[in-house]
Amino acid sequence: MSKVLETRLEIDLGALETNFNLLKSYLSPKTKMMGVVKASAYGTDSIIIGKHLVKLGAQHLAVAYIDEGVRLRKAGVEVPILVFYPQLEEIQNLVGYQLTPSVYTHHFLEGLCQELKHHQVDSVGIHIKINTGLNRLGFELTELDSILEHIHSEKKIKVAGVFSHLAASGNKDEVEFTKAQISKFEEARSYFKTHLNYTFKSHICNSSGILNFPEAEFDMVRAGIALYGYGNNPTEHKMLKAVASLKTVIAQLRTIQKGDSVGYERKFKAEKTSKIATLPLGYADGISRIFGNGKAHVLINGKKAPIVGNVCMDTLMINVTGIDCEEGDEVEVFGKNHTVLDFDIEQQTIPYEVITRISQRVTRVLV
Ligand SMILES: *Cc1c(COP(=O)(O)O)cnc(C)c1O
Repeated sequence: MSKVLETRLEIDLGALETNFNLLKSYLSPKTKMMGVVKASAYGTDSIIIGKHLVKLGAQHLAVAYIDEGVRLRKAGVEVPILVFYPQLEEIQNLVGYQLTPSVYTHHFLEGLCQELKHHQVDSVGIHIKINTGLNRLGFELTELDSILEHIHSEKKIKVAGVFSHLAASGNKDEVEFTKAQISKFEEARSYFKTHLNYTFKSHICNSSGILNFPEAEFDMVRAGIALYGYGNNPTEHKMLKAVASLKTVIAQLRTIQKGDSVGYERKFKAEKTSKIATLPLGYADGISRIFGNGKAHVLINGKKAPIVGNVCMDTLMINVTGIDCEEGDEVEVFGKNHTVLDFDIEQQTIPYEVITRISQRVTRVLV
């Protein structure tokens, strides 16, 4: 029996702590940290990561969907959980599990109020989302009066937060745009400060916002990608440590001759005698075909080996010519020692996408 699973995603909570503390060092001590654990904590494990973030001092968590929040509640997480995209179909669970909705339409607010008629709760806190330029989700600044009116008409609704989301906080060429987003947000925030007779939390910064615009920390920040060890540009990236490492082993080794090909469609043709290793993971595990044909490499015994030919569903092949290795040797596909940012894939993907796509059939293990 093998001591470790062949293909596994290793989760390093020490790296999470390092990243968490680095982000905190940019902030005033009183600023609250919301740990974003949507999409299985960026492809890792939302319960392991969520619980550990709370232990590290995150006062809030955030998910995309209600059922992601329900999972955390069932696992015993008690801190406030913001749901970025709550669906009316699941609103009963939102209220039942005391999750906090992001609200960006009147339609949703009406549905929430209807639902509250069936619950004994005194009040439900919501975070109002304001669109300041991302043009994705959020009320416009011109709608502030109508939101306030709607909220005042519903006794059970309390504004626990007002927030917005930055479009390009990691991009130096868009500093002016980001600053404009921040000042629009300030406008919305002071409107609610003036018109509500209680306090609420304001927040706009995502990871790159924290690192590049810490002056916009307001009461709370929402950290995602940086907690997992990736940034939106090389400078940010260098400061962080990868939490997840995708590892596997060599399933088979073979030597091929000049003119022999590797994989479907014969995309790789050997120019000389070559040593080829097959790894037991493929696009069904989340290693996209864009990584094939030399675009990405893996690390084996400290050496980089390129993926050759097309990535298959359950396997991929690497060229290990000149690398001392054997069947069963460990391979780091990406992670601590070399990251997805080292891949030569230009603008075709981003770390967010690569790490969130590692499929559920890859076992997650804590190291
Ligand atoms: C995903 C998300 C975040 C986290 O963003 P990162 O860039 O990963 O830090 C914050 N806020 C909202 C609304 C999000 O959807």
